[in-house]
Amino acid sequence: YLDRILNLFETVDIFSDEEVIYDSIQSLCKSLFIYDKLTIAMMDSSNNLAIIKYVDGIKEDVDFGDTITLGYSLHGKVIKDNKIIRTRNWKDDYPALGRFQQNEDYNINISAVLSIPILRVDKPIGVIALERLKSRSFTYSDERLMKHLSSTVGHFLLWQREYHKMHESAIHDGLTSLLNHRAFMKRFENEISRAIRFHQNLVLVVLDLDKFKRINDTHGHLYGDYVIKTVGEIIQNSVRNIDVVARYGGEEFTVILVDTNQSSSLVVAERIVRNVENYNFSLNGINEHMSISAGMSEFPGNSNELKSLIDFADKAMYRAKNLGGNRVEISSDNL
Ligand code: GH3
Ligand code: MG
Ligand code: MG
Repeated sequence: YLDRILNLFETVDIFSDEEVIYDSIQSLCKSLFIYDKLTIAMMDSSNNLAIIKYVDGIKEDVDFGDTITLGYSLHGKVIKDNKIIRTRNWKDDYPALGRFQQNEDYNINISAVLSIPILRVDKPIGVIALERLKSRSFTYSDERLMKHLSSTVGHFLLWQREYHKMHESAIHDGLTSLLNHRAFMKRFENEISRAIRFHQNLVLVVLDLDKFKRINDTHGHLYGDYVIKTVGEIIQNSVRNIDVVARYGGEEFTVILVDTNQSSSLVVAERIVRNVENYNFSLNGINEHMSISAGMSEFPGNSNELKSLIDFADKAMYRAKNLGGNRVEISSDNL
């Protein structure tokens, strides 16, 4: 039985959605115990109640999405007091409580209950509850197995959360929170494959702040950092949510505009350039104005290769700079 519990780590990978984890808890419980209702609930962010994430068996009383109050409820008490409840007849043993809410009136006669907290390190973050209609008690050995199961689930969720945090910080730039160079390259590759699959065009915009060195030289690097961070926000706010914005390098940004072509997205690149031009940068009483230059290339119009698309957009961007900056140039290169 313990082997099967530990196998949870093998069958569920660290990228899995929470639903996949709940599914495997259910199939494990189904193979280890006899129950009429299985409920998995996790604390919500307010820490005042738990939300039911999974139900197997009886659903007439509470189901997915319903809540459990922590006070005056049996399963809430499990979380609140970090305490296992195993009872043959819960109404006899906890007459002052409801099962999920203080005042509940379900037409279902649950009797035996085994309810175990899910812990993150030592803190209860959820509950797994097994319930039976008949007063056939869960055994002490059931309790021990459930303890192993919930501890395994708790560790898994902790790993998953830490992994997620690490992954997020590995793909994002620390100053702007935009995708970093490496993550951008990978994403660009994926977006090209996707465009091929769906017979779509896409546009790459490369942007570089004009005369940025002057900012560092006159106001210091902290002011320069503030400008870079703010320009990242301006760019992000100038495009659609589905478009991809990245910090390509120091004060260089890239944007992937998906499912569009150069002529219809010229207005987007121009909007970015105007929004930077019109922004009043202001920090610690120092006011500045900036401008940015942009170059565009299109898949598959200019090329179907990632490297040449970047190269062509870069060349167009430098052409914009040579024409005085604060403008957009379209690539007319072709392989
Ligand atoms: P141009 O108009 O030709 O683009 O001129 P420029 O001054 O912008 O030239 P360039 O692109 O060579 O200068 C970029 C400068 O950005 C050089 C580097 O010191 C600075 N820089 C790069 N990353 C950061 C950063 O994270 N913070 C700050 N404050 N400065 C940075
Ligand atoms: Mg520059
Ligand atoms: Mg530069």
